[in-house]
Amino acid sequence: MTIAVYPGSFDPVTNGHLDIVTRAARLFDTVIMAVFDGPSKKNRLFSIEERIALLKEATREIPRVKVDTYANLTVDYARSVGASVIVRGLRAASDFEYEFQIAQIYQTQAPDIDVVLFMAGHQYTFFSSSMVKEIASLGGDVSWLVPSHVVPALQGAYGRKV
Ligand code: ADP
Repeated sequence: MTIAVYPGSFDPVTNGHLDIVTRAARLFDTVIMAVFDGPSKKNRLFSIEERIALLKEATREIPRVKVDTYANLTVDYARSVGASVIVRGLRAASDFEYEFQIAQIYQTQAPDIDVVLFMAGHQYTFFSSSMVKEIASLGGDVSWLVPSHVVPALQGAYGRKV
């Protein structure tokens, strides 16, 4: 039984994340989308509770996918849930350097855990959660980039920030 952890900020979940986890769930017995709740250089728009709720709703119908949260080292979290794989997504060459660096770190910290990088589907390569937030903050349409329930959440978040 192979358990994989797909760690990230998911602030908020996008169709790109869902593409990766759907494909990972075809390869592994269980994929845990693990929302990082530790200190970060990135400013979060959604609270940890909101990010988890949006992710749970988005993955409700994807078999073998669970949602969890963690605040420690990713490899320590992965070990604590019995995972032998860490999943990440690669959009473009620009992602490669960062993903390569963290994969090297994970490999050093936990040689028993493999990092599996999925190439983003071509329709998802050009956007990130940050891009989605930027468009939404300016009142642009993001309904083609995120699951439908995330749209009102973004509108609400920016509404309440005005
Ligand atoms: P982090 O803050 O850890 O980078 P993200 O939620 O931004 O968390 O991303 C988690 C993972 O999902 C990363 O490996 C990232 O490259 C991947 N990812 C993000 N957006 C997309 C997308 N549009 N298509 C495929 N993979 C993506």
